Amino acid sequence: MSWETELDQWTAEYLPDLKITNDEPMSRHTSFRVGGPAKRMAFPASGEQLVLLLDRARECGARPLVIGNGTNLLAPDEGLDRLVIDTSAGLNRLEPGTEPDTLTAEAGVSLARLADFACKQGLTGLEFAHGIPGTVGGAVCMNAGAYDGEMKQVIERVTVLFPEEGIKTLSCGEMDFSYRHSLLSDHPDAVVLRATFRLVPGDRETIRARMRELMARRKASQPLEYPSAGSTFKRPAGYFAGTLIESSGLKGLTVGGAQVSEKHAGFVINTGTATAADVLAVIRQVQDRVYAEKGVRLEPEVRIIH
Ligand SMILES: Cc1cc2nc3c(=O)[nH]c(=O)nc-3n(C[C@H](O)[C@H](O)[C@H](O)COP(=O)(O)OP(=O)(O)OC[C@H]3O[C@@H](n4cnc5c(N)ncnc54)[C@H](O)[C@@H]3O)c2cc1C
Repeated sequence: MSWETELDQWTAEYLPDLKITNDEPMSRHTSFRVGGPAKRMAFPASGEQLVLLLDRARECGARPLVIGNGTNLLAPDEGLDRLVIDTSAGLNRLEPGTEPDTLTAEAGVSLARLADFACKQGLTGLEFAHGIPGTVGGAVCMNAGAYDGEMKQVIERVTVLFPEEGIKTLSCGEMDFSYRHSLLSDHPDAVVLRATFRLVPGDRETIRARMRELMARRKASQPLEYPSAGSTFKRPAGYFAGTLIESSGLKGLTVGGAQVSEKHAGFVINTGTATAADVLAVIRQVQDRVYAEKGVRLEPEVRIIH
């Protein structure tokens, strides 16, 4: 029996309320707007549903892939023979933490909502995250950051589901955060369920003004009018990826519908008709030409999934 038939039978019996779709285009769930169909996509309504589903999915060989807002993903044109689990709709509980100056958010809460909530509570520290279009789960996984802030600075603890060991709550130190890296980078099958953030009391108006200022800086410097996954490459030690790409003469480099943005060379954008193959071709050409010109090997920040 195929994994999907086995999973369909199991969900019909044990999780009849779970929303699950067949051949769901990944282009609908990634900010690049590319990617073929996922054989099954599930939208759990709670952490409990997610845990049950993951357990069963692994047993039947569905190779589950947990995603948030899909803002750091490149999904293949030929689609995915696996179960994709979208946390962004259902894992959305957000509340003050049990200790003063803390907030607890489930994995699917968007960073924009989290930062807004912190502002309303008069807590500062998450202003940097307001304009990052991901979820808490994706941001913890990537140690997302901007404008001198990163998740590492504000995480108190994270609740993670490991396939073998079960659910564990890890301190910030145990999360092994570094630049665009976390414990999850070395445990790709582990899943973030929720995170607690430790913040500092601050003035609401000042927090709001800082969020507005950072959003204006993003709009001025980033090609937000086109689909993309943000910065395509990690920052190599001692350099900026965008500067290396621009000074290698690669602004505007185009393959099919994918292009190195004219506005910000660190972004590969979808000009409207890009396929994942186009995006990958641009990534490879940029890597090769920057290496040939500057001797620096750029590493994708975008997660290329199979
Ligand atoms: C316009 C634009 C601007 C951006 N600006 C920034 C920026 O300033 N700074 C920055 O760091 N990033 C930026 N990004 C990239 C992206 O938003 C971040 O990496 C974000 O943290 C990804 O979150 P997500 O929910 O979209 O994750 P997804 O793209 O859905 O997933 C990313 C990775 O995290 C994993 N993942 C997601 N949820 C979970 C979970 N619950 N448990 C375990 N693993 C999980 C996925 O499997 C995948 O490997 C930008 C992207 C865009 C499109």
